[in-house]
Amino acid sequence: QAKRFNRGKVVFYDPKHVTAARDRMQMLSQLRQAFTSERLFLMYQPIVNLKTGRITAAEALLRWRNDNGDFIPPDRFIPLAEQSGLMVAIGEWVMRTAFRFLKSLSAIASQDFRIAINVSQTQFREPDFAPKLFQAMEDCGVEPSRVEIELTESVAIDSLERIKPTLGAVCQAGVSIAMDDFGTGYSSLSVLHQLHINRLKIDRAFVSGPGCRLDSQGIAATVLQLAEKLSLQTIGEGIEEESQRKALLEMGCTEGQGYLFSRPVAAEAFEKLLKKQM
Ligand code: C2E
Ligand code: MG
Ligand code: MG
Ligand code: MG
Repeated sequence: QAKRFNRGKVVFYDPKHVTAARDRMQMLSQLRQAFTSERLFLMYQPIVNLKTGRITAAEALLRWRNDNGDFIPPDRFIPLAEQSGLMVAIGEWVMRTAFRFLKSLSAIASQDFRIAINVSQTQFREPDFAPKLFQAMEDCGVEPSRVEIELTESVAIDSLERIKPTLGAVCQAGVSIAMDDFGTGYSSLSVLHQLHINRLKIDRAFVSGPGCRLDSQGIAATVLQLAEKLSLQTIGEGIEEESQRKALLEMGCTEGQGYLFSRPVAAEAFEKLLKKQM
């Protein structure tokens, strides 16, 4: 199919687009293979109390190293996995792997230590998302109060009505919900309210991004004021410098994550970090 008729105009496919489409297909089949042969893995990044520096949670981050040994960043393969529907199965694997990891830490983690998992839009929209989540928690012996799911604003915008039952069930079970990358989307105050959100994660664009202002006029300050009014907890993302930690703390942010504290690390390394603070 070299051309398509569009309102009488002839639109020729750009060979570059054809190549890009073929590349995506190829990448998707490699991803499928990597997934079935258990070559995807998780890294964990500490979330810390900004005042004390103590680790309060771990965020699970998906990783893929392909056959050539090349590392493919999640921002590149997750959208592809979402479009193809593969993300639902991968997401369930992420959940179970992260829960088993949490369970493995039970001797060294404090009572309120949480595991945070990213949940994609397609995954969250599946009608059986909540039952699968509950089953995974039960199978792995994990308390709902120690589980946090991170959603992005896009989840809410185009399907609020559709996701309400799931949100209700998840929240009722005692799982907490964090709004990831907050400030980069378009969610309104009313949406935030309806989503049963417990935490806002302030996107790193407003913490360490180019032109970010960590002062009373900045976006981070505005979000933190909003969070306080709505009684929401907050996590600053992408903290790379001590000055950023200090500024966020002064503006009322309670937790943070970023290279200043630790990059995402393998499970064993995370365990060591946690042991150090026992
Ligand atoms: P996110 O959930 O906002 O995760 C934070 C991202 O910021 C991670 O990138 C992390 O490595 C990076 N980061 C943390 N601290 C710093 C810092 O101080 N400076 C800088 N420059 N970056 C920092 P990563 O691991 O590449 O993940 C990218 C995105 O991919 C995540 O953003 C999340 O949206 C998505 N993702 C990762 N794992 C999963 C998963 O299991 N499921 C789903 N649905 N999405 C995932
Ligand atoms: Mg996240
Ligand atoms: Mg984020
Ligand atoms: Mg992000």
